[in-house]
Amino acid sequence: MVNLPDDLKKYERSQKLKPVFVFVLCEITAALFFVLTRNVMYQTEYIAKYNVIGHAFYTVIFTVPLFISGIFSALSDKTFYGTIEKVKISTTVDSMNSFKPSKETRYRKNTIYLYVKEDGGEVEKFRIYSGRAKEGQFLETYNNGDRVFHLYGSKYTVIIPKPSDTMSQCAVCGITTDINEEFCHKCGHTLPHVIFKTGGEDEKQDF
Ligand SMILES: [Zn+2]
Repeated sequence: MVNLPDDLKKYERSQKLKPVFVFVLCEITAALFFVLTRNVMYQTEYIAKYNVIGHAFYTVIFTVPLFISGIFSALSDKTFYGTIEKVKISTTVDSMNSFKPSKETRYRKNTIYLYVKEDGGEVEKFRIYSGRAKEGQFLETYNNGDRVFHLYGSKYTVIIPKPSDTMSQCAVCGITTDINEEFCHKCGHTLPHVIFKTGGEDEKQDF
């Protein structure tokens, strides 16, 4: 377990609540829609005869929020901190068209997996990026032996700065900030080198 400072704990909590909030809101909307339309719907001549169609329609209305609220991806995310044992990048072809695929809308897609060994823990595989392949993007960013940190709900998995590094990347917004700062200059959250006590400061104390 990572011992997070309060501001990051708060961020994590709000990220966990967000999909639940959206889900509940969508379900309330669906319930309202059901209450308002069911009489009209079931009195429609055709549906009155085959009311299973009406049932199916409302089942869809109530199921859709499960997918649009992001509650599934929220369940699979987690905060982690550990050492990279292996980096795996798979390049596939995907289509921008959600109804797949026409040749014109195809693009190359990179998916990056990190095998991370958490302190005292087992090696776990994380999918940290999946999206359009851009030249040189990320591909050399992660190396075996790097210590990485990912915060629940954030898009970023940051490398903890080594003592020789001069910049620290924010785990929340991804901006890099001078290592002499303690807080991100964009979003104000505590920077990773402060949480894990690595980077510039420690090196200076050694001399
Ligand atoms: Zn930030």
